[in-house]
Amino acid sequence: MPSSRAVPIFDGHNDALLRLWKRGGADAPRAFLDGEGKGQLDLPKAQQGGFAGGMFAVFVPSPRSGPRPEPKGETPALDTGPGTPLPPPLELAAAQAATFAMASLLVRIEREAAGRLRICRDVAEIRRCIKDGAIAAVLHIEGAEAIDDKFETLDVLHRAGLRSLGPVWSRPNAFGHGVPFRCPSSPDTGPGLTELGQELVRVCNRLKILIDLSHLNEKGFWDVAKLSDAPLVATHSNAHALSPHSRNLTDKQLAAIRESGGLVGVNYAVSFLRSDGRQDSDTPAELVIDHVELMLKLLGEDGVGFGSDFDGAMVPKRLGNAAGLPVLIEIMRTRGYGKSLIEKLCYRSWLRVLEKTWR
Ligand code: ZN
Repeated sequence: MPSSRAVPIFDGHNDALLRLWKRGGADAPRAFLDGEGKGQLDLPKAQQGGFAGGMFAVFVPSPRSGPRPEPKGETPALDTGPGTPLPPPLELAAAQAATFAMASLLVRIEREAAGRLRICRDVAEIRRCIKDGAIAAVLHIEGAEAIDDKFETLDVLHRAGLRSLGPVWSRPNAFGHGVPFRCPSSPDTGPGLTELGQELVRVCNRLKILIDLSHLNEKGFWDVAKLSDAPLVATHSNAHALSPHSRNLTDKQLAAIRESGGLVGVNYAVSFLRSDGRQDSDTPAELVIDHVELMLKLLGEDGVGFGSDFDGAMVPKRLGNAAGLPVLIEIMRTRGYGKSLIEKLCYRSWLRVLEKTWR
């Protein structure tokens, strides 16, 4: 259980499943539940820091010429400069195999967790988990490469618990074009959703699956904004005004999110926090709360949460991993944030927007 001063934090994005999938081994679920001193998120670290749950992303890495998969690209490894091409689209069958493997990992973690982690399909289940001190895991796919053009896989994944989906990760796919990793750069980097991508938005609305805007470029963002009947949500993105990274959101995008009653999960990745976009772990954790502060002005108290990107990105050294979350609570208290605002930022606003989306 978290210490009495820890505030539960519901989180918009982590890549623990990707880390465990790459690790491999029949004992991968155990490695998450017992912890093995690797990565940024496991059950012991979560309990220590008050990480109450969040979106557990399934992300299918691009194969590269060698035997090892590409590293996850919240780090700019995939796009070292303007003009560097993103990896080509994935094959459906390969993406499905990897997606089922990672979804299965989450199922196996739940099976071995003896109630300490539960896959949640509605907000009531998340609330019960928070009350019980169990991790509330929501199944998310980051990039819809595993979804076929008749949406049959989507039906099955939805039944299996999928409640959140990003149409694209940063590489292009059948649904649209994502945003490459560039700084400084506008998020307006190319064409938006394809016709199939627009159909995907309608189907997600029907199934009440959250549509994550985080890796869409600006045109894709506006395509979703125009089509979707759900609140607009970016699960792990920051403010472009503070860090002019292509992955971050402009004031105009933030205004549209507010207008829809949506939410942004503030990302701890140093490249999306810093004004120079550099990969440097020697970045003050205060910058996370600087982004929160600006977002509070632009989105209001009910539109801001957290989206750590644990196990997908380099985060400020002082924060380190999920065990370091009380650092953020401390910074908010030092800046005079009251209990009610801190609780909204940490989980209440996330639950509000999920309730509206999944209703
Ligand atoms: Zn991401």
